[in-house]
Amino acid sequence: MEEVFADIVVIGSGPAGQKAAIQAAKVGKKVIVLEKDLEPGGNCLYNGTIPSKTIREAIIDFTRFYDRDLFNVGQIDIENISISHLAKRLYKVIEDERNLVYRQLKKNGIRLIIGNARFENPRMVIVIDREFRLSHQIRADVFIIATGSKPRNPINVPFDNDVILDSTRLLGIDKIPKNMLVLGGGIIGSEYASFFATMGTEVTIIDRKDHILPLLDPEIAIILQTALTELGLRFKGNKEPVEIKRIGDRARVTFKDGSHLEADVLLYALGRSSAVDSLHIENAGLALNERGYIPVNPLFQTIVPHIYAVGDVIGGPSLASTSMEQGRLAARHACGYETHYFPSLYPIGIYTIPEISSCGYTEEELKRLGFHYEIGRAYYYEIARSHITGSNIGMFKILFHAETLDILGVHIIGRSATELIHIGQLAISFNAKIDYFIDQIFNYPTYAEGYRIAALNGINKIKRIK
Ligand SMILES: Cc1cc2nc3c(=O)[nH]c(=O)nc-3n(C[C@H](O)[C@H](O)[C@H](O)COP(=O)(O)OP(=O)(O)OC[C@H]3O[C@@H](n4cnc5c(N)ncnc54)[C@H](O)[C@@H]3O)c2cc1C
Repeated sequence: MEEVFADIVVIGSGPAGQKAAIQAAKVGKKVIVLEKDLEPGGNCLYNGTIPSKTIREAIIDFTRFYDRDLFNVGQIDIENISISHLAKRLYKVIEDERNLVYRQLKKNGIRLIIGNARFENPRMVIVIDREFRLSHQIRADVFIIATGSKPRNPINVPFDNDVILDSTRLLGIDKIPKNMLVLGGGIIGSEYASFFATMGTEVTIIDRKDHILPLLDPEIAIILQTALTELGLRFKGNKEPVEIKRIGDRARVTFKDGSHLEADVLLYALGRSSAVDSLHIENAGLALNERGYIPVNPLFQTIVPHIYAVGDVIGGPSLASTSMEQGRLAARHACGYETHYFPSLYPIGIYTIPEISSCGYTEEELKRLGFHYEIGRAYYYEIARSHITGSNIGMFKILFHAETLDILGVHIIGRSATELIHIGQLAISFNAKIDYFIDQIFNYPTYAEGYRIAALNGINKIKRIK
């Protein structure tokens, strides 16, 4: 057993932990990262963001999705594809990304210790190695908990590895199912549902609410719903599952209204919970809040001021993007460097097929707050680039103040939406007005031209003809 001292110990090597560790190392601190998996990278790299987005890209290429209308590409035969076709690309991406993590840790002089971290007291963690031996005892001035989240797996759901699955187990199946039930119309459920529907699986999403992704702008939601219906995806709302069973090689869900559904595969996507099981946070004087997450103040300090928590372990927004920034900000504060609160403006990306991204106010919020707003819209079918690439489904929706012309929110559905949003995000953060987009020249043909078309559409409505 090795006894070690560090200025900062980061527990977890996902996006939040990596960025916290790098920031602290950059200002000269002695940093140790603890990771219970065999390799660093977090759920983001092995079970979450990176696998799902790589598989999405592989499916789009493999099915020649954007060529369907142009070249009359037929439905692919799912009997002939295995997950390993898709996984090939995934392994390569994971390897590249993992190497990048190792390189960054090394370059910044950060020590990585593999093992399960556990608080002994507020100033010390111990590390248990894979043979369940005590390998390290580490004291530090500051601890940053970045242990992430895990799928919420109720004990009455009989998860296995081929029929009843959560989003992590889904990555291990070896055949594309003929049909699939997705319980939960949130981001993870809707994304995977659209991926499998694109491959030809008959997918049904089931949710307690009456539509998927309830946080979406209603107009964006309608376009999504239409696109998903065209993929053959079905949605059943207002349904509460009461029993999930495996019968032979199939999953069967019984609902409160007495109805039931069966399929080859069930994806259970009803939420995630914080991953603190083995951390013994109570030994550090910490406890979870009523939602099951570690409570923190706006500087990411827990009630024990030298212990910080960042990323999924503190709850929403539970994105890799926001987790990274939380990690960086927490480390800056812990190291005594100037910092700021987490920004209120950040984009949300939803990688359904088609993808969606938004930033700033929604129309609902503007109505509620009593803003005098106007809307500029551009449809993808008005954009030359969309015709060229076979991606005519989509819309830009820009919300702006009808008097000051300040841009208040941008919502995009369609190809490259998650990239395009950053133009809108920059415009909002630099307090640009809607006519900024009119006075700029955009490359042609690009999707970004949609900003200009939407701005013209909006400004014409308030009779300030440009
Ligand atoms: C299917 C899916 C798709 C997603 N898609 C996106 C997306 O497109 N865009 C996006 O921004 N976000 C996405 N997310 C969310 C994103 O993956 C998470 O927000 C992000 O991984 C959180 O980062 P983190 O560093 O907090 O935790 P994690 O990435 O979960 O990493 C936590 C690490 O801590 C380690 N750990 C846990 N306990 C201990 C312990 N006791 N000792 C040592 N180590 C420990 C874990 O092994 C893990 O490596 C997705 C998530 C899922 C599940």
